[in-house]
Amino acid sequence: MDLSYILNELGEDRENYYNAMTPPIMQTSNFKSNTVDDLRKGLANEFGNFLYSRGQNPTVQILRKKMAALDGAEDCLVFNSGAAAIFAAVIANVKSGDHIVSVEKPYSWAQKIFDIILPKFGVSTTYVDGRNIENFERAILPNTKLIYLESPNSWSFALQDLAAVAELAKAEGIVTICDNSYCSPFYQKPIQWGIDLCLQSATKYISGHSDTVAGILTGSAAAIKHIFSTEYLGIGSGIQPFNAWLLLRGLRTLPLRLTHCTKTTQLVFEFLKQQDQIEDVIYPGAQDFPQAELVKKQMEGACGLMSFVLKANSLEDMEMFCNKLKHIIMAVSWGGFESLIIPACATMPRADFDASNKVHRLIRLYVGMEEPDYIINDLKQALSP
Ligand SMILES: *Cc1c(COP(=O)(O)O)cnc(C)c1O
Repeated sequence: MDLSYILNELGEDRENYYNAMTPPIMQTSNFKSNTVDDLRKGLANEFGNFLYSRGQNPTVQILRKKMAALDGAEDCLVFNSGAAAIFAAVIANVKSGDHIVSVEKPYSWAQKIFDIILPKFGVSTTYVDGRNIENFERAILPNTKLIYLESPNSWSFALQDLAAVAELAKAEGIVTICDNSYCSPFYQKPIQWGIDLCLQSATKYISGHSDTVAGILTGSAAAIKHIFSTEYLGIGSGIQPFNAWLLLRGLRTLPLRLTHCTKTTQLVFEFLKQQDQIEDVIYPGAQDFPQAELVKKQMEGACGLMSFVLKANSLEDMEMFCNKLKHIIMAVSWGGFESLIIPACATMPRADFDASNKVHRLIRLYVGMEEPDYIINDLKQALSP
């Protein structure tokens, strides 16, 4: 299916809403039934009918069709956050006594599900360095039901070989989930490598405008229908119609934004590489990235996130650099119009900072939609003594 067809037409039915170019926001909680029999049908099959907007909603349905097609999946659910999508996908696939193998240091709230919530229900998790397929093989136990991936990781950018993990999991009857937030479907389609469930924080590139929080989950028709009828309705964290509309609007420009972002990020990367005050730059788009072969195999491109290690002798040096930035904003999240940084030292108590530890001197940079020189000049002035 053509990308332009998906973004401009798929799922839309303009004749049904006065030929309006953009779809209406069906800001309604519930839907009327004309007969008792219609109501009975709606109650018996909420997946196939508009009954109540915690389940199906027409604006959300347009988005579901587009996102499923973008991921090369049969179906899709849209959540009120990426975290909700992770939670639903994970708990739909484990029960008491089961075991999960997760890539190490997944997104922080995924890790909290594995470390804090699931142990209460007798589900345990083993973390592995996902760069080596043998680590997955070794970690699998007879009760392993789920392998959780995030490729690339949004801090370390470590990749997993999606096809290899999918093949291993399939042979063992294990479900695979991949967090695809870094790439978005524009740069990577985990389902096409054999992964069962693909999720992403739509807060990032799908929205693209830093104005809404949302999550996307895609997979087979059967898997999605099952999750809809249990976790999706039960957790009650489906996206609201207005937020779905914002994502539809964001989607129209996804290819433009990402293409621009990739070009700019390459220039910023090259600038950072040349700076004496910078020890290392970690970027999956780099020629000398340690997993460059795998990037070439399973990703169509690299986006706007990278990390760099500042040569700093103290916490004060780290803070001075960050505080000196005038245009690059200090904030969590990424994927919007604005360039952002988060220094790793902000994630720990001041007293724990150790300048000899490279990880403590890490700064994550998100390159937004600004002109390259605007970003580079800001970095330049902050690096200058
Ligand atoms: C932001 C993010 C999430 C969580 O998404 P929310 O929309 O913030 O709930 C999950 N995974 C990754 C890699 C993220 O960057």
